[in-house]
Amino acid sequence: MKKLLLILTLLSSLYSKVDISLSSSTVKFANTFRVDLKSDTRLDESPSVKFMGKSYQMFTKEWKDNSYEVFIPVSYHTKKLKYNVNVSYKLNNKINKKRLYISVVNAHYKKNEIITVAKGKVKLSSKNKKKSSNEYAKVYKKVYSVISTENYIKNSPFINPIESKITSAFGTARIYNGIAKTYHTGVDFRAKTPVKIRATNNGIISLAMKRFYLGNVIYINHGRGLYTYYAHLSKFLVKEGDFVIKGQVIGLSGVTGRITGPHLHYAIRLYNTTVDPLGFHRLYNKE
Ligand SMILES: [Zn+2]
Repeated sequence: MKKLLLILTLLSSLYSKVDISLSSSTVKFANTFRVDLKSDTRLDESPSVKFMGKSYQMFTKEWKDNSYEVFIPVSYHTKKLKYNVNVSYKLNNKINKKRLYISVVNAHYKKNEIITVAKGKVKLSSKNKKKSSNEYAKVYKKVYSVISTENYIKNSPFINPIESKITSAFGTARIYNGIAKTYHTGVDFRAKTPVKIRATNNGIISLAMKRFYLGNVIYINHGRGLYTYYAHLSKFLVKEGDFVIKGQVIGLSGVTGRITGPHLHYAIRLYNTTVDPLGFHRLYNKE
């Protein structure tokens, strides 16, 4: 009997089929790609992926047996090169490795959006510098450094936070009062008067706070390293710890923070990396 079991185990490892693929062979910088793994037999544990020196645990797909996935961010500052994507999985006590490749390509974001704001919002006074770095420390502690393995979304597609015109695209290089300052980290939706802002998917409110640049901002933890946030609000309609469902009204748009006119700034952080939010929606919703 024992022998038979051993033979069966051996046979199953010889004939088990494991398919590993990427959502595409190229990815634009400041965007996301997905790694998929499908096995016809049960794996010993969740597989993992190594990309650019970081390790990512893969998660089971809710609706499929022995299928795993992970969404991996590529930062804005990534060089346009070909990178290894190393996947490892354990089957019948044996660790298997597979190497795939992805090329990071140009995103052709718009150049040089010129913005004029109050002087004190570009060159910060020492008091405001301190305020801004204290804020960042709080957000880092409660949001950016917290990677939850929960999955609050459960494969439900993303919606937009507001149905309105996009007034500024993600990724545009920005010049504030003549000084080059990074890039646009989210997408701006027109919101002339206070309008209802909706959670783009299910999650838990990690923070609802006032920030120097972002004004009143809400951060939602969707699980698995994914956060959305909603900035420049005039009113919060949720509080920290609340569970929100997709489409639920979380606040009203406004004109708070470093801003030239009322709008909603909507952004995504994935494993503490800023990615194109609507690009992420498209990739996630296409599955
Ligand atoms: Zn914005």
